[in-house]
Amino acid sequence: MKYVSTRGDAPPVAIGVALAAGLAPDGGLYVPQSLPRLGPKVFDGATSMAEVAVPLLSPFFQGDSLLGELPGICSQAFNFETPLVPADDDGIFQLELFHGPTAAFKDVGARFLAACLQRLSRPDTRPLTILVATSGDTGAAVAAAFHRAPGLRVVILYPDGRVSPRQAHQLGCFGHNVSALAVQGSFDDCQALVKQALADTRLQLEVPLSSANSISLGRWLPQMVYYAQSSLAYFRRTKSVLNFIIPTGNLGNAAAAALARRIGLPIGRIVLATNTNDVLPRFFAGANYAPQASQQTLANAMDVGAPSNFERLRWMDPDDSQLRDAFTAIATSDQQIRDAIVRHHALTGKVVCPHTATALHGLGSIKRDPAHGWAIVATAHAAKFEGVVEPLVHEAVAVPPMLAALLAKPSHAERLQPDYALLRTWLSQTRS
Ligand SMILES: *Cc1c(COP(=O)(O)O)cnc(C)c1O
Repeated sequence: MKYVSTRGDAPPVAIGVALAAGLAPDGGLYVPQSLPRLGPKVFDGATSMAEVAVPLLSPFFQGDSLLGELPGICSQAFNFETPLVPADDDGIFQLELFHGPTAAFKDVGARFLAACLQRLSRPDTRPLTILVATSGDTGAAVAAAFHRAPGLRVVILYPDGRVSPRQAHQLGCFGHNVSALAVQGSFDDCQALVKQALADTRLQLEVPLSSANSISLGRWLPQMVYYAQSSLAYFRRTKSVLNFIIPTGNLGNAAAAALARRIGLPIGRIVLATNTNDVLPRFFAGANYAPQASQQTLANAMDVGAPSNFERLRWMDPDDSQLRDAFTAIATSDQQIRDAIVRHHALTGKVVCPHTATALHGLGSIKRDPAHGWAIVATAHAAKFEGVVEPLVHEAVAVPPMLAALLAKPSHAERLQPDYALLRTWLSQTRS
């Protein structure tokens, strides 16, 4: 299996090369050159994440030296559960993706990418530095996944004062090969600094760099695993497909569901739930695709005005009208997020995070046949967003043990002015 760019202008490469590179050299996103066909039978007897992952991902590693390592990669990466649990009424489920070390679904992709990069043989003996700009969840997942990984170090840039206090604590609590830089600016400043460093070929002669953002193939492919696992479990019981409503920002998570459906998993409709950053709802309602500047909302991990993985949806369905048939997208206002959190708590006694609330709102606004099963995708634990949810439900949200363990560690970040020369000096002089 070889990987090519969504923009069609990069030479085909093996998966190991695509994993290490992140972005294709023409600026596009890596996609497989051909797709396997994997019906439910291929997975007979497989129920855990790791058991489902090996037959699911093996075709994508054909011809690469990592293929033989895939069972080890999967058992290392998928060491927590992603349960499909019944939600508020008949036929509605919640796919809980928040049982990993940093309590958000990004743990799945980050841990898989880390397990792969750790095993890639590199000609270089110097450590590979993974640079990440984060508005909160990505940085923590990447830090947790790469913590103490030999030959790899992580440098996280986040906007000081603009992530939640618990998120900031998580970013700075790892130490060892993980450094947190509290940038005195916005998320856009952080992202611009990272892009500049990744494009700085002279710096890279001195400090080998890579990234771990949402377009990385090493995060996209493994996110298929929980869609495969949950839809297979549902299919074995009911002989019918499972539909999903997915809180969506950069479209990495939903693009994984789309790929899983395309290669033959028993997945029905895929509904994209966004916040008021509504580029996708506008497109799927018939408007041209028109990226916008992002707006701040209560579901801050979805504050994206130009969803990067849209190129992957278009690659799967190059014709816009076909693409519009394949998905539905629904926008959610902050008030609708609050209402969904309050209503769900009143009905079930359970508290959802603001991102998951967009999917609950989406469920309420689509026409659905009660005979068909629907899964709300719960992307983070409510305890990460206690500042938003606790005043709404008037109770404290219990912190899951793994998150509590991180919050109990001391935390340290260095302040950095948003000036590329300072970052460059920091990267070449700090050896952690
Ligand atoms: C990142 C994130 C999202 C958005 O996922 P995409 O793959 O960017 O669409 C949704 N919810 C939470 C909690 C997240 O951290």
